[in-house]
Amino acid sequence: MKIGSERVVTLDYTLKNSEGVLIDTSKGREPLVYLHGVGSLIPGLENELSGKEKGANVNAVIQPEDAYGKKREDLFRTVSKAGFQGDEDVKEGMQVQLDTEHGPAYAMVSSIEGDEVTLDMNHPLADMTLHFDVDIVDVREATKEEIEHGHVHGPGGHQH
Ligand code: ZN
Repeated sequence: MKIGSERVVTLDYTLKNSEGVLIDTSKGREPLVYLHGVGSLIPGLENELSGKEKGANVNAVIQPEDAYGKKREDLFRTVSKAGFQGDEDVKEGMQVQLDTEHGPAYAMVSSIEGDEVTLDMNHPLADMTLHFDVDIVDVREATKEEIEHGHVHGPGGHQH
């Protein structure tokens, strides 16, 4: 059975950046189970997987436009170093948690100049070209209920 809309896909994956540095992998964990065609995965990867069959190995290079997008200037924010409670050792590259009107959010310290700390609130994988190595473990028809809910039920999925 080929991967397509209204089908549930089980896959093992390894994700690296262009320098070959490991970003994420399902190895040593449960495989990823998702409903194809509802935007569960980044668009570039869903496109690459579409039409592939169980047992296939797929190597895909996804450009930022089809992954987590380009970094947005409006998601950088400059704050005062004094705003970090008792935190003298704020460093570039450090991840910090912020309280926003939408609840907690994570940001990366992108630069520090004097008392000014610039925070990058973009997705950590924004601007990044993603290299996926995917093994398609299983493909099955989604149930009527899964299609209605827009997600997978049972093992690896939701329980409702
Ligand atoms: Zn459900």
